Amino acid sequence: MGIIDLDHTQVEPLRFPAEREAVAAAQKRRVFLGTEAVEWAKANNLVGVGQVIAIEVALSLRCPEKCNGCPDSDDEVQKRIMDGLIPKIELRANRVDFKDRINYLIENGVEHFMFVGGTLDYLPELSEVINHTLSHSGIKVSFFSDRIPQTNPDGSPSRLMKAAVEDGWMRKVANHISLDAPYGYGNVIPDGSVLPPKKGRNLVATDGSMYSRVFKSQYGIVGAINLIDANVRRVVLNTTISPQNLRLIPEIYQQTVRLQEHAIENRKQTEVGLTVSEWIWRPHQARGDGTGQSPASDGLQMRDMLLANEIFTFLLGEEKRRRASGKPRILYNSSGYLNLLADKQYQQIVVDQEVPYNGGRPEIYNITPLGDVWCDPMFQGTEELEHVNSIFGYRDRVYAQQYNPFVQFQNPNESWFPNIVTT
Ligand code: SF4
Repeated sequence: MGIIDLDHTQVEPLRFPAEREAVAAAQKRRVFLGTEAVEWAKANNLVGVGQVIAIEVALSLRCPEKCNGCPDSDDEVQKRIMDGLIPKIELRANRVDFKDRINYLIENGVEHFMFVGGTLDYLPELSEVINHTLSHSGIKVSFFSDRIPQTNPDGSPSRLMKAAVEDGWMRKVANHISLDAPYGYGNVIPDGSVLPPKKGRNLVATDGSMYSRVFKSQYGIVGAINLIDANVRRVVLNTTISPQNLRLIPEIYQQTVRLQEHAIENRKQTEVGLTVSEWIWRPHQARGDGTGQSPASDGLQMRDMLLANEIFTFLLGEEKRRRASGKPRILYNSSGYLNLLADKQYQQIVVDQEVPYNGGRPEIYNITPLGDVWCDPMFQGTEELEHVNSIFGYRDRVYAQQYNPFVQFQNPNESWFPNIVTT
């Protein structure tokens, strides 16, 4: 079978066509099912038990929202269904298979399971699979949500959230919230109402606009307050940095500070933090998503980099001041990752998204909706990783300094601090 590139409308040329060709050749060589990819990597001494400690669990890769640039958005999914590339109903493994894979990965040293989407909130097996994961001692769980299903338009917790808090799992996990704009930005909060109505939101979100990302951010902040009030273990805001929201990053940081203060003032145990990651296109192009869906021109450009350097130099300084004064951290990224964004000498690397995988070694595993275990959230096997570059923030979920790919960007005059996403 030939290699299928999902997007045939190339609005701009591939930035690194040789990378796509090398990955396509690897994709053609073999398809890994079940746990074959990890077994293959182990047999080839590319990974040992306990070397990869984090995994993304994608029980579904479909979402009802329409955020521009997201491969799981309703717009993208509908396009692929129309093109006959994917079935109308998503094919997914059953709860028994998901639990089997989780057991297998724990035996292989994985300690942190991150339940990502798509949108998982309504899946019938969600609580059972999360509770199963939490039942293993020493295992940590993160749950990713935009908080729209968890929050009523009047700002109160939805029935779904109340049930998850009552069940107990939502208090025990780290709750990650996708947030790309500060509360109140973009004038989407109408007068006299806490949040914009959910009904009709997808009619307003036109292709390519920021509306969906702003809309979900409004629900995200209110959802974060509800989680803190429910005294959950941890709330982490996750921001994707693009030219469209770069100048808003300091405001999002300040909002996270205020959320943390809200937790402390109300004597809640909840830890509150923020992670940032660049809007990525390079690994998407390498895996065959095409430039219609993932154009390099949507990512950070050289013209953005002076501002990016200024913002991240400031934020890195803020973090160091907080650490020095004994205050809890706000940014959960590693100092190496943050310095990559702060230091002028790395501008071209940020714009080109050029950080290779070390000899094709996996850093974070992935369980797909079909229940296959991949060696990376975007690529099946290590043969592809040999050819791939990416600075995507999920790679900064590698807690151990010796395996963290961003150690190389650490300022030698400053002390290293690790990411704390997987703690
Ligand atoms: S809410 Fe998240 S998963 Fe859904 S379309 Fe937006 S970015 Fe994608």
